Amino acid sequence: DAALYYAKDAGRNNYQFYTTALSTKTPELLTLEKSLRFALEREEFMVYYQPRVNIITGQISGMEALLRWQHPEMGLVAPSVFIPLAEESGLIVPIGEWVLRTACKQNKAWQDAGFTPLTVAVNLSLKQFRQPNLVEILNNILKETGLEPKFLELEITESIAIEDLEFTRNVLDALQEMGVYLSIDDFGTGHSSLSRLQLLPLHHLKIDKSFIQELTRDDKVAHIIKAIVVLGQNLGLRLTAEGVEKAEELEFLKSINCEDVQGYLFYRPVAADKATEILIKEKNK
Ligand code: C2E
Ligand code: CA
Ligand code: CA
Ligand code: CA
Repeated sequence: DAALYYAKDAGRNNYQFYTTALSTKTPELLTLEKSLRFALEREEFMVYYQPRVNIITGQISGMEALLRWQHPEMGLVAPSVFIPLAEESGLIVPIGEWVLRTACKQNKAWQDAGFTPLTVAVNLSLKQFRQPNLVEILNNILKETGLEPKFLELEITESIAIEDLEFTRNVLDALQEMGVYLSIDDFGTGHSSLSRLQLLPLHHLKIDKSFIQELTRDDKVAHIIKAIVVLGQNLGLRLTAEGVEKAEELEFLKSINCEDVQGYLFYRPVAADKATEILIKEKNK
């Protein structure tokens, strides 16, 4: 039976919720789904930004846009809770388009303010990726916001990418032609291999944080991460390790020449105004 409960994450002051079966909807879940339908027009969403750092220079090399839902009663609802609901109901399409537009607008504003141009990465869900008019939507957003395509990075998870490789290749070819930056997210979790992904026009590989979390617990994991980095580099991909929290993880990643890191050790995801403060500090470094 579906166990559903809320647990207050005291440290971060937000609610997380757990369910054993999303398909069996409890009243709480149905309520949440209902309020999700109005969240966009009620302007309850926010985009947070998490900087990614170049290991060698220590400089910010990009940002990832991460969606947040500020629910009037429940507070901050985690994406792991509402994104599956949004995906299932199809709401992820308009919500995702709002994230894209917001992130592009923000990135352009940072450039106009004189900060070193960065790519901002936006996560694409399966339903968005499958939209027949994805290229048109993206072109419109870029035109509207005035952002050059090379400063928009699109992240698709490894599992989305390998679901239908031929389809994925066609979409990515079209996106590549537009000039946007393409990356595979959560690499290592999708049971694929780099040799299969090699057929795709990719720029960037993000090693899933579960590997980094296991690094100090399991010696074998170090070898796996190293193999991913070496192979990725041979394929000409930029590599980012996600979820870096400890200095020793950073040291290891440095020793194997992983290019970028993203994680709480450097920065947590923050609201746009805080991200701007980070960029100001970075500029004055
Ligand atoms: P993701 O794309 O893999 O994003 C990275 C997640 O790792 C983020 O969780 C981020 O806050 C978290 N993270 C970053 N550094 C650390 C660290 O050092 N330690 C740990 N433990 N976690 C770290 P978040 O923001 O909760 O997002 C969860 C997932 O929700 C994302 O995983 C992504 O799959 C999805 N998501 C977020 N925003 C969007 C969006 O706009 N559209 C879509 N389709 N999915 C999104
Ligand atoms: Ca991501
Ligand atoms: Ca990821
Ligand atoms: Ca993920």
